[in-house]
Amino acid sequence: MYFFKTTEGLQRHINQNKSSNQKIGFVPTMGALHQGHLSLIQQSQSVCSHTICSVFVNPTQFNESSDLQKYPRTPAKDVELLTMVGTDILFMPQVSEVYPNGTANNLAIDFQGLDQVMEGKFRPGHFEGVAQVVHRLLELTKPDVLFMGQKDFQQCAIVGRMIEALSLDIELYVCPIVRDDSGLALSSRNVRLSPQGKEQALILSKSLQEAKVTLEKESVQSIVDTVKTQFSESTAELEYFEIVDGRSLQPVADEKDTDFIVACVAAWVDGVRLIDNMILKGGF
Ligand code: AMP
Repeated sequence: MYFFKTTEGLQRHINQNKSSNQKIGFVPTMGALHQGHLSLIQQSQSVCSHTICSVFVNPTQFNESSDLQKYPRTPAKDVELLTMVGTDILFMPQVSEVYPNGTANNLAIDFQGLDQVMEGKFRPGHFEGVAQVVHRLLELTKPDVLFMGQKDFQQCAIVGRMIEALSLDIELYVCPIVRDDSGLALSSRNVRLSPQGKEQALILSKSLQEAKVTLEKESVQSIVDTVKTQFSESTAELEYFEIVDGRSLQPVADEKDTDFIVACVAAWVDGVRLIDNMILKGGF
């Protein structure tokens, strides 16, 4: 595995090895890697000739500095895992390498409201930071295919919109959510959960699963109400549970209104903010 910490090294390598018959896949991550991340690498390897992974905790997407400070970092283990799965190139830069001219964001993208709902409401500025870093990393890595996880469903919508708005010649491939045996979606943040917290966190995936099973039998409103009641009786603190159109991310009033429906949830467990989602109808 080629390992670069500087943009200069990375770019020199990419430019020297560029050839027309290569298909480059890119997997951006914030590290503290787990099987969810590795599934993206493996997906890239199955459709691309070369796979680049970045590990970079992007400060501009954190709306709270304490969250940034507490974000888990396991660089040595990340290198080990990426080597083990046969990643071709790892880019693990410092902030000054990614933003040599400072972190001011000059991208002006009309997200068509995708950034105003759910995560956008609770994490102001988050998606501007996500678009900024993904745009910058795409500029540096010049991939053909970008691999992202459905785990961050709204993030995929935002990045898809950015690719469309800027007419970037990149295919976005959304990979399925990897869960542990209990149903908990794998997340770097899970390492901060106590054993009890892991139990309590199951309410997220269970509420999504229940919504999927009941969508055709019950009204959207009654599903949302039931889930809210369940959360109020639990130790998890719900931020939102929404059943939305998979393209516009606007709330769905009736199951028959659209062919693509997703339930999205965010909640605090053990002082850790968790998100999860499930496609209830249709898909990409
Ligand atoms: P992160 O390091 O949390 O920024 O995640 C990097 C990429 O891995 C994003 O595209 C995530 O959506 C994806 N990812 C994170 N967790 C999972 C998971 N459990 N299953 C699939 N993809 C995931």
